[in-house]
Amino acid sequence: MSDGVQNGCVAFIGLGTMGREMAINLLAGGFSVRGYDVDAAAVASLAERGVVACASPAEAARDADIAITMLPDTPHVEAVVYGENGLLGSPPDGRLVVDMSTISPVAVRRMHADLAKNGVALIDAPVSGGPVGAKNAALSIMAGGDAEAFARAEPFFRAMGTTITHVGASGAGQAVKLCNQLVCAINLQAICEALALGRASGVDLDQLRTVLLGGSASSWMLDRLGPAMIAGDASAGFRIDLMLKDLRLVQEQAQALAVPLPGTALVTSQYVEAKAHGEGANGNQALFRVYDRMSNRTPGA
Ligand code: NAD
Repeated sequence: MSDGVQNGCVAFIGLGTMGREMAINLLAGGFSVRGYDVDAAAVASLAERGVVACASPAEAARDADIAITMLPDTPHVEAVVYGENGLLGSPPDGRLVVDMSTISPVAVRRMHADLAKNGVALIDAPVSGGPVGAKNAALSIMAGGDAEAFARAEPFFRAMGTTITHVGASGAGQAVKLCNQLVCAINLQAICEALALGRASGVDLDQLRTVLLGGSASSWMLDRLGPAMIAGDASAGFRIDLMLKDLRLVQEQAQALAVPLPGTALVTSQYVEAKAHGEGANGNQALFRVYDRMSNRTPGA
């Protein structure tokens, strides 16, 4: 293990849309990075930037102070922890694992307990801010887990984010992230409805957006996704499939705790409609196409 944290070594597992940018920022922050992804091309393109290419989670974890995972869903994180050449059997030297994916809080607590039996700490630290926040090292990071482990992870978080909050015990980071996602989805739905009504009323949608941004209806979603919604550009961004995964996690948590969330139920069915129309790989702004279809409108027209 290296002696100073700023010279520390990170095993980064999951070098996709978010992980790639986060790994680059860790390099920029002075850390060395050992990278692994099932997609060999994702690893190879980062090797050009100085990431040490590794062939498994175990190989990445070798000599590392911390292992960070940034993977699509719960089964992917479980595979990296429990699978062959996984982090349970081959933890980093620093015996600290941080999962920054959005996954089930129940699964987090189970992995936290299993890793603890091996003397390895797990922090759940999901993020908000999207690919732009990841690129600009401006993520909001919400962390759950033991205070001592959080303190050890914090210098690494500072290379990737600006708002870094220890929100409680294991699983609390994911619980907060699910609240975040619920707000994002229902806010996006409200924007879709405003744009659909504004369009039918014959008002200029760019002007409508500017007016809303200047008042109490302003939001991150309207600011960042509004232009693509108005232009009918559904392509890039946080995928519909990933939000559907998050809404499933919200509903599992709500059912387990007997919390009725009717707004979440409604917007989830609209995301399901979008996926049924082949929009799963499109960005979240494609939710507006649900309204296009309901109004028999051509997207972007
Ligand atoms: P992504 O699909 O672009 O990247 C995930 C990467 O994990 C891929 O490169 C994939 O090949 C790799 N992978 C899958 N299984 C693996 C395994 N077993 N071992 C190693 N690598 C594996 O996803 P993303 O957009 O980077 O999102 C990652 C996580 O962050 C998700 O949980 C998502 O919900 C969350 N998140 C995403 C955004 C966003 O805007 N994209 C924002 C906030 C949070």
